[in-house]
Amino acid sequence: MPRVRVAVNGYGTIGKRVADAITLQDDMLLVGVSKTRPNYEALAAAGKGYKLYVPEGREEEFEQKGIRVSGTIEEMISKSDIVVDATPGGVGAKYKPLYVKHGVKAVFQGGEKPSVAEASFNSLCNYAEALGKSSLRVVSCNTTGLLRLICVLNREIGVRSVRAVIARRAADPKEVGKGPVNAIILNPPSLPSHHGVDVKTVLPWLDIATAAVVVPTTLMHVHTVIARLKRNTGVSEIIGILEQAPRIILVDSGKTGVRSTAELAEIARDQGRPRGDIPELIVWADSIRVDGDEVMLFQAVHQESIVIPENIDAIRAAASLASDPWESISKTDSTLGLKRWW
Ligand code: NAD
Repeated sequence: MPRVRVAVNGYGTIGKRVADAITLQDDMLLVGVSKTRPNYEALAAAGKGYKLYVPEGREEEFEQKGIRVSGTIEEMISKSDIVVDATPGGVGAKYKPLYVKHGVKAVFQGGEKPSVAEASFNSLCNYAEALGKSSLRVVSCNTTGLLRLICVLNREIGVRSVRAVIARRAADPKEVGKGPVNAIILNPPSLPSHHGVDVKTVLPWLDIATAAVVVPTTLMHVHTVIARLKRNTGVSEIIGILEQAPRIILVDSGKTGVRSTAELAEIARDQGRPRGDIPELIVWADSIRVDGDEVMLFQAVHQESIVIPENIDAIRAAASLASDPWESISKTDSTLGLKRWW
């Protein structure tokens, strides 16, 4: 079977991880990645043997630093069937006319407005609706974490409403210009935050409201979630459902002593996971509290990697490489080594 040719436009936090994940798929071929500046990330991409494409007129800057350039970004797009746009929020929309001009499908990221794509996407929620679409938007890291939990509970029991408070990391580890802040910032001061609104781009029927604060850390986000289900349940039923779910890992703080995002990050590093990534949603099993039809829990989201499996499934859905969501999800998860923990 011929592989679908995929370009990655924007080789930063998300783009570099998506590029690596594409190279692990037997139904995809990485055409190349784009860089705007000849910095350490460009050197790393070249070192991995990825073909580098750059904005027109910038080739010499790269060549002067000994970085081989394979062509312009437009040339990369013209050689591809589908592009994963991982440029900074709002830049993807500016590239959209180029993708349309070359008849190339596009997978955008959560920093873009929902209107950039035909549908917002989460593998566990709406893979089937995304099949064959010309453009998809993989929702942001916090939205992906919320949707994984909600769609798993909704499939097994049914969800009526969700309220969630998000403690957001201030910056990614590499963002030297932003840095953690010595404050807890209301994000934004007026409620609700945009995260619940973003969840509704995938689940328009859901009653959801969220609040968020920015906290001084770079490691992960933590959510406090309260969900009302369609019937009464119990802690052991919820644990059973989450244990069976793809892309969710249960951690017991009593058994493991893990009570923080720092310890989760340490486990990922101890296990030699690439870049210390945790693409799974982490749910603290012993945080789960059930009162009738109401479930309350803590969960953690690794912002740099949680959307990577969803990007791979979005490529597969848009390119119609697998019509069954579970075929794509299990293929992605086994190639990325997900849920192999402890
Ligand atoms: P980033 O800044 O780490 O990477 C963006 C890359 O795009 C950089 O390499 C930059 O040089 C490149 N770029 C900038 N302008 C460009 C242009 N005109 N053409 C081509 N490349 C260009 O950003 P990121 O964190 O990877 O975010 C990318 C997208 O993913 C955003 O929409 C963001 O909201 C979303 N996202 C980010 C995170 C996160 O926590 N970092 C999580 C989920 C989703």
